[in-house]
Amino acid sequence: MTDFNWCHGPECHKKHTVDRVRGVKGSKVLRTRKVKHHHNNHWYSYFCSQGCYDDFANIHIHDLLAIAPRTECLETPINDPQKVRPYEGAQWYNTEITVDESRQR
Ligand SMILES: [Zn+2]
Repeated sequence: MTDFNWCHGPECHKKHTVDRVRGVKGSKVLRTRKVKHHHNNHWYSYFCSQGCYDDFANIHIHDLLAIAPRTECLETPINDPQKVRPYEGAQWYNTEITVDESRQR
C-alpha cells in the first residue's frame, strides 16, 4: 500500500507555489501535490488543502449527495432548554441544551 496519494483537487496543479514546481530547466511544470496517506477516511489523506477539497466538492457536489441523499430532516430529542446564569450576579443567561437520553433511538 502506498503511503501517499496525489491531491484530488482539480486545480491543484495550477496553483503557483514553489513546492509544486518540478522538472528540469526549460521544461518546468506545476505538479499536483503528494499528500501523506494517514490510513483513515479523513479528507486530508486525499487533499493537500481545504481549498483543493472545496474545489473537488464544488465540482462533484451532486455526485457526492447522490451517495447518501438527505430526503428528510433528522432530529435529536432534547430536554426543554433551560436559561441559566453563567455565574452568580451575571447580567445575561446562557441557554443550556441537553440531549434527552430517554428518547434516543
Ligand atoms: Zn491540492
